[in-house]
Amino acid sequence: MKDCNECGFQKHGAEERCFDCKAEQAGKRSYIQIEYLRMLDSEKRRFNNLDLKDIAFIENGKIIEIPEKYIEDFQYVGLSNMDFILGEYYKKPFFDEENN
Ligand SMILES: [Zn+2]
Repeated sequence: MKDCNECGFQKHGAEERCFDCKAEQAGKRSYIQIEYLRMLDSEKRRFNNLDLKDIAFIENGKIIEIPEKYIEDFQYVGLSNMDFILGEYYKKPFFDEENN
């Protein structure tokens, strides 16, 4: 990251202007970096193809312990590994949740 010549902040894409300033100059309110979206999609597919049992989950720099039951329950519900994380099913048992 470099300093943007226009806004002065250290931001992504700042060769002369950061992406925010480039978007604003183009009359847009926001921007999407296509290479970044492709990287996210590729990372999502990589993650979804892994076996949950074989993954070291790291949050805030530390490996987090996930009870085996949470993973075992989740593997049969037909959701993706992304759902396991984004739905926070690594913090609670899937089936207990449904019975609440
Ligand atoms: Zn800027």
